[in-house]
Amino acid sequence: MKAEIIAVGSELTNGAKLDTNSQWLSTELSARGIEVIYHTAVADSMDLMVWSLRVALRRAHLILLTGGLGPTLDDITRQAVAELLHVSLILDEDSLNHVEQMFQKRGREMPARNRIQAMFPAGAEPLVNPIGTAPGMWCEVPKLDADHHVAIGAMPGVPSEMKKMFLEQIVPRLPVGKKIIKRARVNCFGVGESDCEERLGELTARGNNPEVGITVHEATITLRINVVGDSIDECDQMIAETKQEIHKRLEHLVFGEEDEELEHVVLRTLSERRLSLSTVESGTGGLLAHRLTDVIEHGDLYHGGIVIPGGSKHWELLGFPENWFQSNPVASAETALEMARRCRQHFETDCALAVTESSPSESSGDAPPIAYVALSTPDGESVVPHQLLGDRSFLKSRAAKAALNLLRLQLNKP
Ligand code: AMP
Ligand code: MG
Repeated sequence: MKAEIIAVGSELTNGAKLDTNSQWLSTELSARGIEVIYHTAVADSMDLMVWSLRVALRRAHLILLTGGLGPTLDDITRQAVAELLHVSLILDEDSLNHVEQMFQKRGREMPARNRIQAMFPAGAEPLVNPIGTAPGMWCEVPKLDADHHVAIGAMPGVPSEMKKMFLEQIVPRLPVGKKIIKRARVNCFGVGESDCEERLGELTARGNNPEVGITVHEATITLRINVVGDSIDECDQMIAETKQEIHKRLEHLVFGEEDEELEHVVLRTLSERRLSLSTVESGTGGLLAHRLTDVIEHGDLYHGGIVIPGGSKHWELLGFPENWFQSNPVASAETALEMARRCRQHFETDCALAVTESSPSESSGDAPPIAYVALSTPDGESVVPHQLLGDRSFLKSRAAKAALNLLRLQLNKP
């Protein structure tokens, strides 16, 4: 069974709003074994909507529409479906009562134009919207040909209303798919995308089941596992085996799963060891502190951070001797290590992380700017250089992540 989603609204096609409904619906349909083959976003225009629907009728067995069910003149999903099916709109008394009651509850009289929300293409089934005024609808399209049946479900555009209607009223009407599709994500850091792909070998070949895809965002690599199976248990088993294989091939590069970021993993491990942390950063605009303070759990382990803008002279906060920078550049292994040591003393923490970057003006010739991340812990010190290639926001993010990764690797050492 193949499905197509049509998101209706000029706010989606003109870029004012992102179509998040289609993403959510696709995940839900896939999990139920229904393959989604197209997403269409279409402006509030009768001709364009009917056009999109006609095309979808020929290629899908299920068409889910969201949006365009409001009372205003630009909301014309019900009219477009009626036009598509060559039927007229008929008033449904129960739906009219529901819309009137929604207004009564809010102490208001129903404006005349809301009456349209209780009208449906002849033959369509109204779907109640318990949390809004826009009812949805469900209709089975009269036979197109012997083996191509199509059902159309239309839901409100407001995400919370759409989700509730889908789960409670569309799902029970869906045919049960023969195959189950499940997904999982494994997150890695510390290697380039192509290097990662090479290590994974045939695991990433297209068309495999399980299929492993690679995406990268600000140096974090996400491996997306997709499996198709006959049961949830079978899918879970295939995902577990694939994860095991990924761990075997990538070893310490793997740091987490699903929405886990480096800071979650680092703070969790610090908490298990009862260790505290502080940070000092130059050139990253406080991004390292920002990431660490985004984690609510174990927040008490992070005692604080110092942010020194690139090119600043204010190093006295850490008590650097005045002549330090006469013999050591700001972006150097020595400075990074000294920052980490002094930060650890200043905040009286078990561990301290330091980042220092050379600004583009400081780097010599055509050589790309460089960042040093350093770590000071009761078990020792380390410092790592990172070449900085890319735009500013990417570089800042990568340097902050590289610092967290240095601590993660240190904490993982046996
Ligand atoms: P509508 O049902 O077309 O009146 O849409 C109501 C509101 O829901 C719009 O103003 C949008 O803010 C939101 N909305 C509509 N379609 C979507 C969509 N595909 N994804 C996310 N939000 C949407
Ligand atoms: Mg709309």
